[in-house]
Amino acid sequence: MESVETTLPPSEKTGPRNGGGAPAVPFFSQADTFRELWPEIRSHCVRVLDRGKFSHGSGVAAFEHALARWTGAEHVVGVNSGTDALVLLLRAAGLRPGDEVVVPAYTFVATATSVVLAGGVPVFADIEERGYGIDPRSVDAVATSRSRMVMPVHLFDRLADIRGVHEVARRRGLTVVEDSAEAIGMRQDGRHAGLLGAGGVLSFFPAKTLGAIGDAGALLTDDDTVAETARALRHHGRGGRTLDHFPGISNPTVLAGYNSKMDDVQAAVLLAKLGRLDADIARRAALSARYDERLRQIPGVLAVPGDVAPHPGGNRVCYVHLIEVERRDALAAHLAARGIATEVYYPTPLHLQPCFAHLGHRPGDFPRAEAACAAALALPLYADLSETDVDRVCDGIEDFYTGRRR
Ligand SMILES: *Cc1c(COP(=O)(O)O)cnc(C)c1O
Repeated sequence: MESVETTLPPSEKTGPRNGGGAPAVPFFSQADTFRELWPEIRSHCVRVLDRGKFSHGSGVAAFEHALARWTGAEHVVGVNSGTDALVLLLRAAGLRPGDEVVVPAYTFVATATSVVLAGGVPVFADIEERGYGIDPRSVDAVATSRSRMVMPVHLFDRLADIRGVHEVARRRGLTVVEDSAEAIGMRQDGRHAGLLGAGGVLSFFPAKTLGAIGDAGALLTDDDTVAETARALRHHGRGGRTLDHFPGISNPTVLAGYNSKMDDVQAAVLLAKLGRLDADIARRAALSARYDERLRQIPGVLAVPGDVAPHPGGNRVCYVHLIEVERRDALAAHLAARGIATEVYYPTPLHLQPCFAHLGHRPGDFPRAEAACAAALALPLYADLSETDVDRVCDGIEDFYTGRRR
């Protein structure tokens, strides 16, 4: 432990420089990206301002079109967040009040709360032994006669076992919808995440691989009815080609819509950033490989992302660099004292969250999800991160486990 650094006031630790002279490593920053992209973003934003139409403008449609080309999706529906995209997706895919949706116990909370918001009931399943996707065998074990859908989540850097999920879904009569909020760029046999079932979502929360300057999200689907229903739902049940009925949807509750539209300014920023998404993804992959090369040599580091291959037919896109380690919380504190920010993804498995206590789960119900929550630590990973930053994070981890001081 470096006593000099640990005595610094908290503001110094999170500031741009950390006492000893070494620059702090924030968990996420895109200041450089925005400086570079500013002329382009400004011209898109000026166009929005010149039009003077800040809702139902053509900016959202332009971004939807560009994203449809990038992903290969038949339909892209721009909305105000990944969470609302999930709620719209579930309802547009035909979820009825009281229907069960099987979701993993290890994921961001919105995977399960979106089911509740859509009128359904989440049913938790464990995740696979290696990696963080839902375990198809667990889906088979927890699904009941009331289960109508299964929602795999593609976390961090690779797709869930989508073939395994489809096999169980076919046998159990479940519709597959994807929480692909983190999965931009991830593909299975060339098909983009979110297009491997009835539909999927993307989140453009600022820290995501493609981030807005506030909240935004999108629904992706190749299904005309899902797209048309979602378009209506995002705007009070209006819009789309039909104004007063929902072809193919017999559930009358679908007629109550939301105000979930994407903002034209976010669409303008996202359109500019989409132009460098391939470069950003390549940059993240290079940084991720650099982390792995160092980290897999360090005692105390139990798992690094590069050691788990994608499922057959899947690619790797590095959104979060998640490692599993011994004494995780002590390591995080040690790094924080050196000005290195990390995050715990995800601190508590969803079956043990207070908001789902009524489902009656106990510790031990989903051992793999619980083990991941205890050991997982997300390291800084973003296009603006430098090689030197990666080396400093690795030095910090190495020093923690070897007791070395430098
Ligand atoms: C980010 C995220 C969401 C929610 O997206 P928002 O845009 O923040 O609402 C949902 N699921 C997963 C797995 C996510 O990572």
